[in-house]
Amino acid sequence: MRLAWHTGFASHARARYGGLGCIVMLHRVRPDCVSPLGVTRSLSITPDFLDTVLSSLKEEGTEFIAMDEMSERLSQGARPGAGRFVAVTLDDGYGDNLHHAQPVFQKHNVPFTIYAAPGLVEGAAVLWWEVVEQLVARSEHVRIPGGPEWRCRTMLQKRTAFHALMRHFSYVLSEVEQLPVLRQMCAEAGMICGVAAERDVMSWRELKQIAGDPLCTIGAHTVHHYNLRKLPPELVSIEMEQSADMIEDRLGKRPRHFAYPYGSVKAAGRREARLAAELGFVSAVTTRHGTIHPEHRASMFSLPRISINGRFQKLVYAQTMMSGATTPMANAGRRVIQA
Ligand SMILES: [Zn+2]
Repeated sequence: MRLAWHTGFASHARARYGGLGCIVMLHRVRPDCVSPLGVTRSLSITPDFLDTVLSSLKEEGTEFIAMDEMSERLSQGARPGAGRFVAVTLDDGYGDNLHHAQPVFQKHNVPFTIYAAPGLVEGAAVLWWEVVEQLVARSEHVRIPGGPEWRCRTMLQKRTAFHALMRHFSYVLSEVEQLPVLRQMCAEAGMICGVAAERDVMSWRELKQIAGDPLCTIGAHTVHHYNLRKLPPELVSIEMEQSADMIEDRLGKRPRHFAYPYGSVKAAGRREARLAAELGFVSAVTTRHGTIHPEHRASMFSLPRISINGRFQKLVYAQTMMSGATTPMANAGRRVIQA
């Protein structure tokens, strides 16, 4: 990526693959990395890095727009012009968004959208991947009840066990089995099945506070942060619709934008895109890699994003990805992937 930027490839790519701009995806924004095994580092960037990226985009003349504006321009048939736009989004509603990210957005007057899952806010769901990491970090041995087990004394063993557990939770267990299984594993390890308050998601009071900022849009992200493709059809629409109902009830404004949890092709397909449209959302974002093009007008419910994450905390990487230079690499040469 560094080579692509310095050889000027990224600026050529911007003309062909940069399109109208991009939707940036963030998760945690905090000064310290909270991943004891380093395995969820990709979900975190520092406020300083966010500041650097926004400053650099501003210098390039990028226009920062909210998701409402992005959807409107796209559906009205915007064509690539001189200036490009960036819409910033943050998934899951981490507490650090309020404490560390909002001040940076305010400093630069940059609109941002937070996709919140009410089940995470109310404790009906947990940030299970973080609990799995903590469980492995503090155990010498972990076992899936009635299933496989792993020794985890060394860092290498711990990382191996973590990735095996992630696969087991993601693909072997059903969505509704995850939490009871994790609770049992935590109980056996003498640990509470949850994350520390300072690392958790925002409470309703905090969400209300940040939603009061005119720069902030709150979007929906299901109730229980389930992988929708793993659910039966009736549950999919309940998860999508109720998350919007609950947010409207608590914050007084119905979310118009949606983000699919996990957001890969394995978690969001045509069925989910059709339901998002039927339920009245205006847009829905995936975690698929790509910039935004006029053709996405026909794919408002499977929009790609550019993840700015902890593994690539260098300005040159962010610039290269946002130029669209990495879009064809991630999508077998295609600019636009339709669901
Ligand atoms: Zn999420």
